[in-house]
Amino acid sequence: MQAKLAKRILTLAPSPTVAIDTKAKALKQQGIPILNMGIGEPDFDTPLHIKQAAIAAIEHDSIKYAAPQGMIELRKVIADKFHKDNNISYEPSQIIVGAGSKQLLYSAFQVLCDKGDEVIIPVPTWSTFIEQVKLAEGTPVLLPLKPPFKLTAKDLEKQLTKKTKIILLNSPSNPTGAMIDKEELEKIGKLAVDHKLWIISDEIYENILYTNKHYSIASFNDQLKEQTITMNGVSKSYAMTGWRLGYAGGPQHVIDAMTSLQSQTIGNVPTFIQQAAITALSADQASVRAMHSEFANRRAFLIKAFSTIEQLSFTEPEGAFYLFVSVEKLLGKQYPTATAWCEALLEKEGIAIVPGEAFVYPGYFRLSFAASMEDLQKAVEKITDFIQ
Ligand code: PLP
Repeated sequence: MQAKLAKRILTLAPSPTVAIDTKAKALKQQGIPILNMGIGEPDFDTPLHIKQAAIAAIEHDSIKYAAPQGMIELRKVIADKFHKDNNISYEPSQIIVGAGSKQLLYSAFQVLCDKGDEVIIPVPTWSTFIEQVKLAEGTPVLLPLKPPFKLTAKDLEKQLTKKTKIILLNSPSNPTGAMIDKEELEKIGKLAVDHKLWIISDEIYENILYTNKHYSIASFNDQLKEQTITMNGVSKSYAMTGWRLGYAGGPQHVIDAMTSLQSQTIGNVPTFIQQAAITALSADQASVRAMHSEFANRRAFLIKAFSTIEQLSFTEPEGAFYLFVSVEKLLGKQYPTATAWCEALLEKEGIAIVPGEAFVYPGYFRLSFAASMEDLQKAVEKITDFIQ
């Protein structure tokens, strides 16, 4: 008899977006032309001045073990950034640097969740939130939203129970690009304070906005700041996905607990990566603006192109770089689910997109427009052909 794996890992669903990306890359390696619009990864190269900062740091021997919480120089830069961009005044001691915001989200759930604690997660959602809550033995409570997928305090209030411990916010959202309006965010904050709930606010897409201004819930008042962990990272804003650097700000005792966990798990993020992040966050932000303007062009193109395909419907994203599209009118005998439809699209047209099931929202797909305009144009043509 073989020794068994732990139950917690047997019930873990691997990341569906990563799975699609892996499949698309494998097909590409076999020489099959694939347009990969599956993964949430900017297609831009990391700006040169950031790469050069990492190279210089390696050359200057910034290559040893370091403080688990992150280098103080970087935490100071992050504290400045939170102050300037988000109107939150964290001390550098209230900031932690991790191996991507994904890893810090994992730490936050581990630190805040006891067995059976309920975490409210609005859906459609990035599946990582759900799986990480399960890994922390918490109970994900899914709150389905209807188009245009904008979370309200009223929706949230209906889900509250005695066991509710955390509200998960992700604005702009993956996969819909929807944002929480300021008035609603204020009401949600009041709800959290009245019911003594934690808020984990994932703000990784804060720089990629098209119609709305971004507000950080922790900036509204001191009490909310004490109840919120603000998550961010350099992956999306600076095209640094593979570098693996995220950061979080929060109440001192939470950051201390996350640091203890970090000291017993990853140790520290490589210091030369941290040096690169210092440059990314403190140097001129022209590259961020350039990428943003390219995303805006692509978004405009897709909105126009998809609006002419009557079988598809969608809400215009307010932020991030995803279009979340309903294919419900196309489902039936031949393709009973969005997953079946997306699989056929990959096989027949070589386009990789992610079915809504991956975001707990059947009947939809997510197309990432972190791809070149040329590829997007080809993809639209092929999707149109496939539908017809
Ligand atoms: N949060 C959201 C909402 C995301 O969509 C992603 C990546 O897709 C992440 C966090 C992960 O970012 P990082 O690269 O910092 O781990």
